Amino acid sequence: MSAALLQQLQAQLESRAAQGLHRRRRTTETACAPHVTVDGRALLAFCSNDYLGLAAHPAIVAALQEGAALYGAGSGASHLISGHSRAHALLEERLAAFVGPNLVQPRALTFSTGYMANLALLSALGGPDAELFSEAVNHASLIDGARLSRSAVRVFPHGDVAALEALLAASTAATRLVVTDSVFSMDGDLAPLPALLAACERHGAWLIVDDAHGFGVLGEQGRGALSHFGLCSPQLIYMGTLGKAAGVAGAFVAAHELVIETLVQRARPYIYTTAAPPAVAHALLTSLDIIGGTEGDARRAHLAHLIARFDDALVLRHWRRLPSFTAIQPVVIGANADALAASAALDAQAIWVPAIRPPTVARGTARLRITLSAAHAEPDLDRLVVAVRALDAASASSATSSSETPS
Ligand SMILES: *Cc1c(COP(=O)(O)O)cnc(C)c1O
Repeated sequence: MSAALLQQLQAQLESRAAQGLHRRRRTTETACAPHVTVDGRALLAFCSNDYLGLAAHPAIVAALQEGAALYGAGSGASHLISGHSRAHALLEERLAAFVGPNLVQPRALTFSTGYMANLALLSALGGPDAELFSEAVNHASLIDGARLSRSAVRVFPHGDVAALEALLAASTAATRLVVTDSVFSMDGDLAPLPALLAACERHGAWLIVDDAHGFGVLGEQGRGALSHFGLCSPQLIYMGTLGKAAGVAGAFVAAHELVIETLVQRARPYIYTTAAPPAVAHALLTSLDIIGGTEGDARRAHLAHLIARFDDALVLRHWRRLPSFTAIQPVVIGANADALAASAALDAQAIWVPAIRPPTVARGTARLRITLSAAHAEPDLDRLVVAVRALDAASASSATSSSETPS
């Protein structure tokens, strides 16, 4: 009997592999940084979401150690039992103040991960009498949160505010939730948040903004996408993650205090899980000091400089770049096997850029996902550009020669 079960898994795995969808993990041996040791080899990495280069910042590492000395290793229980520490409370106050200028009566609530924050938000605010309007290329955690919420789900096309507006106008649901990434994680472009918010305000809908890739990077002092666009509304619900630009781990939701109280009372992914270690919250206080201070400004300025330099230099003949002024710079290649081959060719030159394939991106749009960080130096960037341009040129000439095969 068990042999048949195992054979079934084996067959499914083989079928994925045949479609170029097998995924494998690499084991890193050094801290997250541009220059890493991976499975014993030195690589130049363009794959982390550590946009400000804070993941191994000495002051944050020291704060993590101090937090462990103050509060121990584990929280011991969920937030509603006894796991909610002074460090969590301080972090929530700091986060509410940091993103608060773009919200009304703001309060913040922290989570162990962004994935859980999105499950919590959508499951607590949605329900059978809610309708959820989800942007077509939203992150998987929002898609899973929508499923968990048992709401009716309507997907609107990428960036299409008019289509959303038509769906909202036709809706008779008691609760309407519009949900979108701010910076799209595999494309690097920005959602038209001002127009989305205006549509939500016209139709009495909440606008949930997942700013996983904007918090710390966009806006004044790194306050995120709402600050970048200068938005403010009681209908805004903001989700930021703390494991990307903030360099540590976790996430938070900030919104009107009644939204947050609803999450505390009702969100099962908040209630039924052990609170993150208080030391993590304590380390994040230092991360926020850096993000919002002059060092954060300098890191954001360097990152912006690198993005502009990359944008100028990476001229492609065959592969396609997507319009992005963020640290996420995709190069769309197309077929899974070709994207994997490009990633492998870079790896052979000790450059680490992941190939992203379906279902993370649409079929036929497999790509290299290049992410830049303030921790990169100009020579790092230039090495990448030379390598990618050479591979693109080689693929362009092989495409030309195969289409010009003598007839
Ligand atoms: C990374 C990410 C998440 C999940 O955050 P984690 O803290 O890594 O769980 C959610 N939404 C988007 C858009 C992301 O990129």
